[in-house]
Amino acid sequence: MASITQGGGPPASPDVPGWLPIRGTKLRRMERVDAVVLGAGPSGLGAGLALAREGAKVVVLEASQTVGGLCVTRRSNGFAYDVGGHIPFVRDDARRSWLGEVLDGELHWVDRPVSCIVDGAITPGRYLDRRPTAQQTLGAHDETAFGELGSRFGATFVDDAMRPYLEKIDGVPLEKIPGTRAIKLMVDQAAPDGFWFPNEGIGQLMDAMAHAITAAGGEVATAHRAQAINVSSGRVMGITADGPRHRRDVATESIVVGIPAGPAARLVQPAAPPFATPEVAMRAVCIVYLGIDQRSVTDQAWIQVDHPDVPFSRAFEPRNWSERLSPREETMLGLECYCQADGDDPIWSLDDDALGQACAAAAADPLGWIAHVELASLIEVVRMPRAYPVPDLDQLPEISAAGQWLSQIDGVHLAPGAAVIEAIEAGERAAERVIGAGRAGA
Ligand SMILES: Cc1cc2nc3c(=O)[nH]c(=O)nc-3n(C[C@H](O)[C@H](O)[C@H](O)COP(=O)(O)OP(=O)(O)OC[C@H]3O[C@@H](n4cnc5c(N)ncnc54)[C@H](O)[C@@H]3O)c2cc1C
Repeated sequence: MASITQGGGPPASPDVPGWLPIRGTKLRRMERVDAVVLGAGPSGLGAGLALAREGAKVVVLEASQTVGGLCVTRRSNGFAYDVGGHIPFVRDDARRSWLGEVLDGELHWVDRPVSCIVDGAITPGRYLDRRPTAQQTLGAHDETAFGELGSRFGATFVDDAMRPYLEKIDGVPLEKIPGTRAIKLMVDQAAPDGFWFPNEGIGQLMDAMAHAITAAGGEVATAHRAQAINVSSGRVMGITADGPRHRRDVATESIVVGIPAGPAARLVQPAAPPFATPEVAMRAVCIVYLGIDQRSVTDQAWIQVDHPDVPFSRAFEPRNWSERLSPREETMLGLECYCQADGDDPIWSLDDDALGQACAAAAADPLGWIAHVELASLIEVVRMPRAYPVPDLDQLPEISAAGQWLSQIDGVHLAPGAAVIEAIEAGERAAERVIGAGRAGA
């Protein structure tokens, strides 16, 4: 049975393809697996688990020291907290049972639906949930967020209630945001009654998936950054990764891409043509974690904030997701500030202390969540300069170029997912394609 490994793998011999020297003299055959998965975020772990449980010989390569990608749970000052509030949007009972099985029952129902701020006060439900149903209009959809949402909910309601929030998150006018993106954020990513959540944070699910992979005979190799996807005559031949001690060459006919398509295309050898790897403008997120010297601030888990004077667009209070995350008498707030990673951006340009101050000041006024800023102390700021591509219709060709090009390579299986469960399911679908291709070739 394989395990979660760090490092290992023999040194490489570039002169003798397929054979690797051991301690300078002996040769051994290059390792060969049924599939290599790039990245141990939710999509890579979803693929790895599905493949291992089907009996495939699979290795999941993860550049970081830990698994989970964006879905990690950090610990500091006695608090545990996720990198961004991560609600698993579970759509059916089968997925709920799957979560319970993988987590060995370490799962509970959070009886707190997403809420939003209206006129300075927290209101149950998202902006979408406040729609005046009597005023719904049904018109022709178009490809923009404004057209898509307007045709479902009415232009006035969209302008008043959805535009401020969506534009604050994505940084472009609704007329430029793709309709599919708006529907995903406003309609599909719903937790209208509450949501299922791992007791110790979203990272617990990622750790459990990694352990399930090894229990099923697969390998999860942390601290292994993929450096090259080796391709010959339009077919995948294998992959090269840097481990902490050695380079690792793995022969395979199937690669599941659980990392963004742009960086994956840049790994392909021979190199991708320039049209496959264009520059893509990215949206950034700074997540500000404030310790608050009182037992709780709100009774909510996840709050949408559209107020233009408040730097953050979403706020979460980990205590309200699970008591185990804030075991002390103090609480904490996680505040997601969406921005651009450039020196002119009013959020990104602030240093950590100044950004923490700005968030604490907003929590006091206009939000009125804390009586005075001295109750807040900065725990940390997590900065993600390249969180996701700016969802601007004008750059859709650039956003999709790498994925389109990669998917033409025989043996490459993409697993893109814009949310945790969606990413796991994309990984599972990629695994099905790998297994299907294996059966077809047998
Ligand atoms: C602030 C924020 C809040 C969010 N909130 C929610 C939410 O409430 N609900 C929800 O469902 N989703 C949410 N999401 C989205 C969710 O985090 C992503 O959809 C999900 O993490 C995507 O999973 P992934 O596996 O595709 O990618 P990632 O999580 O990014 O994982 C990719 C992994 O690949 C590794 N990697 C990269 N390059 C290499 C390489 N060359 N070799 C090996 N490994 C490599 C990385 O280290 C990483 O571990 C949120 C995202 C953010 C940023």
